Amino acid sequence: MTLAVIALGANIDSPTEQLKTARDAINQLPNLSDTHLSRVYSSPPMGPQNQPPFFNAVMTCHYTADANQLLTELQRIEVNMGRVKRRRWGERCIDLDIIQLGDVVIETAHLSLPHPGIAERLFVVQPMIDLLGCQHKVPGLDDLGTLRRRLTNQSLTLCQDVEL
Ligand code: ADP
Ligand code: MG
Repeated sequence: MTLAVIALGANIDSPTEQLKTARDAINQLPNLSDTHLSRVYSSPPMGPQNQPPFFNAVMTCHYTADANQLLTELQRIEVNMGRVKRRRWGERCIDLDIIQLGDVVIETAHLSLPHPGIAERLFVVQPMIDLLGCQHKVPGLDDLGTLRRRLTNQSLTLCQDVEL
């Protein structure tokens, strides 16, 4: 049984509804149990600025199959939800990234674990803290509390009115 951390993001086509749909689809996946969803946060886009703000959340679960299978399943959900590739870091109705899978470290052409962007993304670190606490450690990185202290310059808004 391995802890899997999955990041969910969306910024078009009713983003918070997209997060709900993705959450429900992830809950249906095989080999996965005991899911928890963080609160939802909004932040400015990372890439091109001429696009709507992003809505992000993080899910944790127990996962019993391997990392490549989880990536394939998440990509299938993205495709089923109608995700279209437009531009790098551009608008998308759903983005599902594997952030961490236990202590697995992988660096291949199509999968990097832990996800290489964690330490630069408050919209990943803060919802992870919601679920796992400040002491939680991702392989190769400082604990989440330390990562958050380095990201205080980033803008992140808790969506208090959004209940998934
Ligand atoms: P991004 O998430 O960086 O905005 P995409 O969602 O388009 O971009 O993903 C680009 C590629 O990143 C995917 O085709 C996938 O193979 C690869 N990738 C590498 N590591 C991961 C990971 N940990 N989780 C999800 N995708 C990953
Ligand atoms: Mg992605």
